[in-house]
Amino acid sequence: MKVLYSLLLTLITFQASAQVFKVGHLFDAKDGEWRKNQVLVVKDGVILQINPAHIPKELPIVDLSNKWMTPAFIDAHSHLFLSDETFGKDFSAGLKTWVNQNKQKKIELAQKRATSLAKVGFVLSRDLGNQGEVTSEEVHQLKGVHVISSGAGWVPHLGQLPPNSPKELAVEYRQMSDKAQFTDDLVKLYADEEPNWNYASPQLLKKLVEKAHAQKKLVAVHAILNKGIEGALTSGADTLEHGVEMSEEQFKKLASLKMIFVPTLSGALFLDARRAKLGDDHPTSEFSRACQNIQKALKLKVTVAFGSDHYFDFPQGDYGREQIEMINALTTCGVTANQALQMATYHASMTQNLLKTGLIAPGYRADFNIYPKSPELDLKHLFSPEQMFRKGEKTN
Ligand SMILES: [Zn+2]
Repeated sequence: MKVLYSLLLTLITFQASAQVFKVGHLFDAKDGEWRKNQVLVVKDGVILQINPAHIPKELPIVDLSNKWMTPAFIDAHSHLFLSDETFGKDFSAGLKTWVNQNKQKKIELAQKRATSLAKVGFVLSRDLGNQGEVTSEEVHQLKGVHVISSGAGWVPHLGQLPPNSPKELAVEYRQMSDKAQFTDDLVKLYADEEPNWNYASPQLLKKLVEKAHAQKKLVAVHAILNKGIEGALTSGADTLEHGVEMSEEQFKKLASLKMIFVPTLSGALFLDARRAKLGDDHPTSEFSRACQNIQKALKLKVTVAFGSDHYFDFPQGDYGREQIEMINALTTCGVTANQALQMATYHASMTQNLLKTGLIAPGYRADFNIYPKSPELDLKHLFSPEQMFRKGEKTN
C-alpha cells in the first residue's frame, strides 16, 4: 500500500510539473538541421525525452505543430557594462573615459541591454569583463538573461588602455602572474594587448590555463595580433576570442585542437551608413576580416561560436535587435542560416560549462524561441519571436 501510495504521489507530482511540446519544425543545433514533427517531454524546466514511444495522455500539451522552434540564443562574447562612445575610432581613449564613469551608470546600462536581449530571444550572455568596479554579485543580479562572467581580465602589462593610465588599470584589469587566484565563472587571459604591443608569455599562459582547468573553469584567451594568437594556440585554453590576424597556418593549428573560435562581429553594425558616420571605416573592415576568418574556420571544420563584442550605444539603438542584425550579417559571409543559428546556440553554449542550454536535447533546459515562419528561409524572422519559453515556462 505504502509503495502504491508513493508511486501515485510520484505520478501526480510528475504530472503537475511536466508538459508535452508538439513541434512542427525543431532546430537540432548539434547537427545544424531542422527536424519535422517532434515531441518533447519537459519536466521541471528540463527536457526529459524527445519522441518517446509512449506519451502520457494526461500531460498538458503545448501545440506548436505549425511553428519553428530554436534553442534560445547565447552571445558568447559580450561586454554588457562597457560603452565606447568613440564608436571604435579610438578604443583606448574610449575605454579610459568609460572607466571613470560611476558604477551605477554601468549597471543601469547593462540592465537595459539585458532586458533588450531577452526580448529577441537571448537567454545567456557570456560577459568578458570591462565592468570596472561592478562586483561579480552585481553582474549576476542582472535580470532578463543569465550572465556568465570572467570578471576583470588578466593582462600582461597595461591591457588596452593608453599608457599612463595606472589608476584606470587598477580598476579595469588584473595583473597576470603565476599567483593569480580565479574566483569568477570563467577565466579571461589577454595573450596580447592590441593596440598596445605587449604580449603574455606563452609559458605563463599555459600555466594559468592548467591552474584554471584544475578548478574546472574554462579559459577564454583574448588574441588579436598574430603573435598573441600563437600564444593562445599553445596555451591549452578553451576558446580563442577575436583571432583577427590569424594566419592560414594558425587556422590549421586551431582546427587540430579542440579549441572554439569566437570571432567577434560588432563591426557588422557599421555596414549601416548612418552608424558608419558615427565612427570611421575601421569597424567595417574589421567585419570583412572577421568574415574571411569565419569562412576559413568553417572550411577547416573549426567550431565557431557567435560572439558580438557589442559595446556601442547608437542614437535610437536597440541592443538586442542589433545582435539579431549581426546574426543576419553572417549570411553575407557565406554562412548558411542554419550555421548561423548553430553558432548562436549550441556552439556558443560550449564556451561555458555552467548553464545547460543552447540545445534541444534531454538534460538541457527547456529554453526555446518560437517563430511563425522559417528562420532557415529568412533569418529576419528572428527579429520577432512569437513565443518564448524559459525552463518550460512561457515568458511573453
Ligand atoms: Zn571583447
